[in-house]
Amino acid sequence: MPPEVDFDVVVVGGGPVGLFLGCCLALRGLRLLVLEKQEAPRQHSRAIGIHPPALKLLSALGLAEQAIARGVTVKRGVVRGERGVLGELEFTGISPYPFVLALPQQETEGLLEARLHELAPGALQRGQQVMHLESSAAWATVTCQDAGGTVHRHRTRYYDFTLPDEIASGQLRPLRDPDSSEAFLAQIP
Ligand SMILES: Cc1cc2nc3c(=O)[nH]c(=O)nc-3n(C[C@H](O)[C@H](O)[C@H](O)COP(=O)(O)OP(=O)(O)OC[C@H]3O[C@@H](n4cnc5c(N)ncnc54)[C@H](O)[C@@H]3O)c2cc1C
Repeated sequence: MPPEVDFDVVVVGGGPVGLFLGCCLALRGLRLLVLEKQEAPRQHSRAIGIHPPALKLLSALGLAEQAIARGVTVKRGVVRGERGVLGELEFTGISPYPFVLALPQQETEGLLEARLHELAPGALQRGQQVMHLESSAAWATVTCQDAGGTVHRHRTRYYDFTLPDEIASGQLRPLRDPDSSEAFLAQIP
């Protein structure tokens, strides 16, 4: 890592996507920081259904079996209307995980957060609200504020967003177009 930067990557947002990305980057041996404005994990569920492709991604982090053990597997779906059964679906043969896993999102986040802690202890910093991003050709400076109002600045080679609303509203601007996450990750040696 060049001496003028603090981190290879700063990920803004420690929801499931930011935590997953953090684990992937840590597995590549990168020095990273995940900034999350909430001081504690969310206690309410949002997503409940994890579909086969997402289970495959969790398995790449060694988390699929733990997730499956905690959830309920839904192997078949039936749609019923006033006139009876309208359609049925099943997932046989499409994936090593031929079901939708019903698991509250906070549990999925808990597994990802624990894995990130194993791979890169201290990489997740909670209670840090990103306020500003400034990019130069060589690095970006990410400015955040903690709950006590103290401002922190981190210099990074790359940063990534998991916050489409903030980008769309123009509050935050990307260093580079993050359209393709695969292309983005491929740029990181
Ligand atoms: C009611 C409901 C039901 C859903 N059901 C399903 C389902 O069954 N299956 C499914 O796959 N998906 C479902 N979803 C969608 C799923 O919840 C989202 O796709 C998922 O939460 C997106 O994850 P994320 O990490 O991209 O964003 P988020 O979960 O929104 O995480 C973004 C994080 O960024 C943090 N943040 C925001 N601004 C800043 C800042 N300036 N500085 C630092 N941190 C910041 C936020 O606190 C948050 O923790 C559902 C969503 C809802 C609302």
